[in-house]
Amino acid sequence: RKIIIAIDGYSSTGKSTVAKKLANALGYVYVDTGAMYRAVTLFALEKGFVSDSLDAKSLIEALPNVELKFRPNKKLGKSEMFLNGKNVEKEIRTMRVSEQVSQVSAVKEVREKLVELQQAMGLDKGIVMDGRDIGTVVFPEAELKIFMTASARTRAHRRYKELLERGDEVSFEQVLKNVEGRDFIDSTRTVSPLKPAKDAITFDNSDMGVEEQFERIHSYAQR
Ligand code: C5P
Repeated sequence: RKIIIAIDGYSSTGKSTVAKKLANALGYVYVDTGAMYRAVTLFALEKGFVSDSLDAKSLIEALPNVELKFRPNKKLGKSEMFLNGKNVEKEIRTMRVSEQVSQVSAVKEVREKLVELQQAMGLDKGIVMDGRDIGTVVFPEAELKIFMTASARTRAHRRYKELLERGDEVSFEQVLKNVEGRDFIDSTRTVSPLKPAKDAITFDNSDMGVEEQFERIHSYAQR
């Protein structure tokens, strides 16, 4: 029996690390929905729809021209995000995108488009999807729902390390501000705000290693 596993939670809680590991162990498909919102944000930036604030009207009009695809990269053993045929996997992880993504993902029409694509990916079951609204909106019927939290400083430290390893020039304060800022916008927006589903299992992983999180969620998945 293949199931749908929804992993939601705050920014930089290590959702994707655990979700990937879980998908590998179960032979499931892993979908990073944050990458999709990030790709739409990159599109908006490239089109000049983001200056001081977001020109939501122009973005909505241009949405039919946004084509998103995940393509497996066999060498890396993971899927990469393509925006209108171009590999944008690196670009969508930059601070430039992180700083605008929450206002783009608060746009109802953006969410409608992406949710539809995400639901189509789940038709075959056997999927681990991570995001903010997977258990509440995309797959309210998911068999297993996890909600991840950790202290803001812990999360900012994790993100900061990742960005440094990638060679991004950022300060810890900048990363902390971004993590807290995104959480605030994501959980207070009117469309699909970030919150745990009623039947989600909540995990505070501030003091939990990847292995322990994996073992726990894996055992739930087997029930
Ligand atoms: O998961 P990640 O941190 O890459 O997500 C980036 C941003 O995309 C989030 O801060 C949130 O604004 C948005 N997002 C969302 N719904 C999802 C996944 C991501 O609104 N399902």
